[in-house]
Parts: sequence; structure tokens; C-alpha cells
Amino acid sequence: MKPLGLYVHIPFCASKCAYCDFASWAGREQDMARYVHALCGEITARAAACGHPAADTVFFGGGTPSLLPPELFEKIARTLRASFALTEDAEWTVECNPGTLTPAFADALARCGVNRVSLGMQAAQSRLLRQLGRIHDMHGVTEAVETVRAAGIANISLDLMLGLPGQTRADMAETLDHALALSPSHLSCYALIVEEGTPLAAAVERGEMRVPGDEMDREMYALCRTALLRRGFVQYEISNFALPGRQCRHHVNCWRREDYLGFGCAAHSLWENERRANCASLDGYLAGMEPETESISPQDAMFESLMLGLRLTQGIDEADFARRHGQALWTVYGQRLQGALSDGRLIRRDGRVFLTERGMDVMNSVLVEAMA
Ligand code: SF4
Repeated sequence: MKPLGLYVHIPFCASKCAYCDFASWAGREQDMARYVHALCGEITARAAACGHPAADTVFFGGGTPSLLPPELFEKIARTLRASFALTEDAEWTVECNPGTLTPAFADALARCGVNRVSLGMQAAQSRLLRQLGRIHDMHGVTEAVETVRAAGIANISLDLMLGLPGQTRADMAETLDHALALSPSHLSCYALIVEEGTPLAAAVERGEMRVPGDEMDREMYALCRTALLRRGFVQYEISNFALPGRQCRHHVNCWRREDYLGFGCAAHSLWENERRANCASLDGYLAGMEPETESISPQDAMFESLMLGLRLTQGIDEADFARRHGQALWTVYGQRLQGALSDGRLIRRDGRVFLTERGMDVMNSVLVEAMA
């Protein structure tokens, strides 16, 4: 059996960003120790129920994992190591907010074997960061990168956002320049999504802010893509770019629909064709509410493989698809994908099926046709 991926959700933030609808809470620091106790209990019990399997990636997301006191982070890392057979070369990633990362926390990461840090930079301009409710500026990002490197962690990813209210092409170009000057090994470039119920959505609705729109989003995306390819980055997924060999293994495994176990409030798992969703509220999780489980039908499993696999620039390995699902991809979807193949959105070559650059821009249209 292939080693698993492990995901740990840390639902605490210093303050809530204007665009964020993730499961995260500000002002709940007093619950951290209780949360970590419950989390470690969940890790221990689930690992035993699954037979203490091997794992080769660990990803701490949130929320803001770097808000945890170092000793609580170390407690979680120890529990993971005691519960799973973690491979020696396992990838350990921790998402950090540049506004909360301290040298003591970075040193704790290094002691625990963390070898990859993902920093939420988002933009270089203070006015855009303030508008998003971010708690750092560009200087804070530079300092955070130095802190991570000083702790001995060389593999650093930066998250950037595009399509922000008031963001111009010149802002995007400047953000890329600043990001690249920090020599990251990986960049994620995500378009802003205005999520219902957030302060940002309310401001857009009141007409106080305007988002640039799809055409501008695409221009900024093209700007990012061109600049990063020119600097030797490889695009391996719609929004993700890495120097050779520095792809996020954890995320690639998710896009390949490999099994993973998620721990903590709002965490999801995929294990032997069962999806499990932990309680999405912090209070519910602390009160011990049971997760919801759903077994995935063979048809849904195949569609998930298609939907996730097409996000990768390498696309889907047809032999692997047939091995996992017992049916050939082209037998199931060939007829419905013929249109995308003929008009240049999709390519089928050397045993793989993948989207072209234009196809990535309109991926949803390909999926809608595949579902029809
Ligand atoms: S730091 Fe991240 S998780 Fe926390 S509120 Fe901001 S966007 Fe959301």
C-alpha cells in the first residue's frame, strides 16, 4: 500500500481576513491547549483504527499553524511520529503567516523535522494587504523568509493572490518581483474568490469595492505564468509553480486522489473510498461531535479522479486510472471528451490525458461535458 498523506488543521488566527471563509477563529487562544489535546487524541485513535499505516507527507494548514505556542506544535509532531510509520524522506509542510512567525516557532519546526514552509505573502503593496485584513506588510514577509532560513529550512513556498480589488497589472508585476527576489522554491498564485458572508463580499455588494473581473484575472494569471516560466519554474498544476523537484508532494498526492487522513476541526479524509468530514465548528469538535462519513460510488470515484487529475499539467496516467478503477478512462469518458479533444482544449498522448493551456483556462467546460 502506498504511504498516506496526513493533514492537520489548526483553526486559530490572530484576526480574521476580510475574504476568508475557512474554518478559523480569532480570539480563541485560550482554547489552544484543549484543542491540541483533542487533536492528539483523534490522531492516536484513528492511526490505531487504520493499523498504523506508513505516511510520506504531513501538511499543517489552517487557520494559522504559526500562531501555536512551539510546545503545542511539538506535541502534535510527536504524536504523529508515534502513531504513523513516517518515511525518512517524508515531506513536512507548515503554513505560516508572516505576521505571527517567531524565531522560537521556526526553531521548533526545524527540531520536529519540518522541511517545507508555506508563507502567505499575498501581495507586496501595503494598501492591498490592509484592505484584505492581512496583519503583515512586505517587510514582514522578508523577515519571515529570513527567520525560516535561519532555522535551517530551505524549501519555502509563497502564496500570492490575483484579482484583488484595486490591484493593477503594475501591482502584480511588482509583487512577482518582490516574491522572486526572496528566492522561493515554490509559488502558488490563486485568484481571489469573493465568498458569500465575508466582509469583502458585503463591501463588494455595497459598491465600496470592485473586483477586477474575469478578463483582468486571466491577464494577471498570464503575467504570473510567463514571469515564473521565464525564471525556471515549472507549472505543475493550474495555480502552482515549482523549481524542478520542489512540487508540493502532499498536494500532488491529493490531486492524484491518493488516500489521506485529515485531523482537527473541519478536516476531511479520503480512506479506502470513504470520505470523512470532521465537524466544521471549533466548539463542535471540542465537544466531541462525530464526523460525517460517506462511501464513494465507483462512478463518483472515477469522476473525482478525472476532475482532480486534470488540474495537473501532466494530467492523468491512463494505465493508473484503469488499475484503480477497473475501467479505461477513454471507455468511460472518451465519447464525452471528444469535443474538447477536437477543439484543442484536451490532449491524449503517450498514455496520458491532459489539458492544454487554453483548456486549463476553461477547465469547467471540459468537466461539464464529461458529466453530461
Ligand atoms: S490568516 Fe488565513 S485562515 Fe486566517 S483569516 Fe487570514 S486567510 Fe483566513
